[in-house]
Amino acid sequence: PAEPESPYRVVLLGASGVGKTAFASIFAGAADSMDSDDCELYEVCEKDIEVDGEPATITLVDTWDTEADADWAHEQHMQTGDAYLLLYSITDRTSFLRASELRITLRRFCPAQNTPIILVGNKCDLVRRREVSATEGRACAAVFDCKFIETSAAMQHNIWEAFHGIVRQLRLRRDSR
Ligand code: GDP
Repeated sequence: PAEPESPYRVVLLGASGVGKTAFASIFAGAADSMDSDDCELYEVCEKDIEVDGEPATITLVDTWDTEADADWAHEQHMQTGDAYLLLYSITDRTSFLRASELRITLRRFCPAQNTPIILVGNKCDLVRRREVSATEGRACAAVFDCKFIETSAAMQHNIWEAFHGIVRQLRLRRDSR
């Protein structure tokens, strides 16, 4: 397959309610090419960012809800992304298990070993409702051979770090070819 060049197509995956829309709105909020209404409508948003002093363009794709009847929609996205943010909510163990399932499906649709994937434990501001520890999240990411980060869309904590991490991984892959 052709080496992906910027714009990088980054796909948001995860159970319903984990914060994908919140992630996309923060991303869209800083977009200059489209307003956020357009982003909501098309569930795709493009933005130029700078990572380590080098510009990169990200096309962010927000998927539909991941309930069983919408699996086909995810599968479509799983074949088109250059990189994936796999979200769960730290307050919802079911969403954590769903992220594992999605990771396995992703491996089937996107067999390249080095496709950048970050497991994202969102809602880390809700400390008292935590059901999944950071240790568990990190261990899961290690098993799945992906990176790990905890974020809070509500507090805008670590959201850009997640996007920067994806770009760094894409560049590492680019530079190793
Ligand atoms: P989606 O179904 O994955 O797109 O999830 P949404 O982005 O619609 O978020 C579901 C709900 O969780 C909404 O009420 C959001 O305001 C809330 N939410 C999303 N991210 C966070 C977060 O980091 N912290 C808190 N406290 N709430 C969040």
